[in-house]
This record gives sequence, structure tokens and C-alpha cells, in this order.
Amino acid sequence: AIQINNVEKSFSKNKEKITVIDDFNLDVAEGQFVSFVGPSGCGKSTLLHIVGGFIPETNGEIQIRGNKVTKPGPDRGMMFQEEALFPWRNVYDNVAWGLEVQKKSKKERQEIVERFLKLVNLEDFKNSMPSELSGGMKQRISLARVLAFDPDVLLMDEPFGALDAQTRETMQVELQRIWSESQKSVLFVTHDIDEAVFLGDVVAVFSKRPAQIKELVKIDLDRPRDISIR
Ligand code: ATP
Ligand code: MG
Repeated sequence: AIQINNVEKSFSKNKEKITVIDDFNLDVAEGQFVSFVGPSGCGKSTLLHIVGGFIPETNGEIQIRGNKVTKPGPDRGMMFQEEALFPWRNVYDNVAWGLEVQKKSKKERQEIVERFLKLVNLEDFKNSMPSELSGGMKQRISLARVLAFDPDVLLMDEPFGALDAQTRETMQVELQRIWSESQKSVLFVTHDIDEAVFLGDVVAVFSKRPAQIKELVKIDLDRPRDISIR
């Protein structure tokens, strides 16, 4: 489970304090899929970066399975809104990155990388460099990388924004299948309400900055999981 307790995030700019997230509380049950929607600039990406351990909160704390988040960890995988492939590594080595960290054997790495490149339909590009790919292709490589890493918690910040409608739908269906076959908890930011509702157990609607949850909408589908929200 992920517990976000009284989280505040402020930045200072020209000696002025700007509060981006204010007294934010949310409990995400094990295996739950939460879609985050809200106006641009309200603090969704900032919140995901804090859950990922990439930036510190100003106040409050986040716990994952009872452990306080202080830095990135192998239990969490993040797909960033901005481009985040390693530019000096080819496609294959980008996807293999987390598997090297996990000290998987070469044979295992090969099997997993090929499986996920196939899933995102880019198996023919494994020797390409990121600079040779389109934005949507890079997004699919990032998806393959985070899924290959197989974290308990998936943090996805507008992961399908650069995809054409058909590829996006395919990726949504694959993500849902992978999620429903695993125990992963997913925090998923999107501006696409249909996507939020299609994928999420719960849609969390953010207020404008400072981010707080304005409304939690439980999507009433026959999901196989127990859902609890606070
Ligand atoms: P979008 O939907 O456009 O991606 P968002 O909800 O993800 O928006 P954030 O990227 O979290 O929004 O940004 C929230 C606010 O925090 C913005 O006003 C932004 O300018 C501010 N902000 C983010 N990072 C910093 C920083 N390092 N320093 C100062 N302000 C920041
Ligand atoms: Mg954002």
C-alpha cells in the first residue's frame, strides 16, 4: 500500500514561497490503479516525483508498505512526462538497464528485453539509438523499460501522450492486462478522461495549485480487487 500523509511541497522563487502541493492525503491499496487528472500546473508530476523519491517533500511523508520514501528504489518504476531514455545507450540497452541493476543473467535479460520490445512493437529497433526514434517510439521504449523492470509500484506521468490513437489504445489494453495479472499498484497521470476512467479503479481529481484531491471517483467495474480509499 502507498500512504501519502499530509504532504506539502513548496519551492522558493525570488524569496517567495510557492506551495505546489498542500496537505495532500491519499491511501492507495495494494494492487490499486489510481488515475490522476487535474489542470495543467496543479502539481501532479511533482507528486509523482516525490512518491518516486526523486525530490523530497517539504512536509509530511510517504510510506510504501510501511517504509518511508527517501530516495528512488527498486520497488518503484517511473515513466516520466519528459523524455528520459539514456541517449548514449541503444534501445536494447535502455530496456535492459534495470535488469542489469537487478543482476539478472545475460540470458534472462535477453529474454525479457525481447518480450517487452515485442509488446511495444519495436523489436526491429533494438540496435537503434534514441536520437533516431520518434517521440512516440521513445515513449514506447520507456514503457518497455519500466515494465521489464517489473516494480511493485508503477508511476506513470502521461505515458501515452505522444502516441497515435490506435497505438495508444493498444498500449492501454496491454498495460491493463499486465496490471490485472500482477499485484502492482499504479499511479497514472493523464489529461485524457476516457483513459483515466478506462484504466483506473479510482479517478482522483486534483484541484488547481496547490494540489489537493478535490474528488475521488470510484469506477464501478467488476474488478477482481478490493478497493479502499480514504
Ligand atoms: P501538467 O499537467 O502541465 O504536466 P502538473 O500538474 O504535472 O502539470 P507540475 O509539473 O507538478 O504540474 O508543476 C506544478 C507547479 O509547480 C507548477 O506551477 C510549476 O511551475 C511548479 N514547479 C515545479 N517544479 C518546480 C521547481 N523545481 N521550482 C519551482 N517551481 C516548480
Ligand atoms: Mg505534469
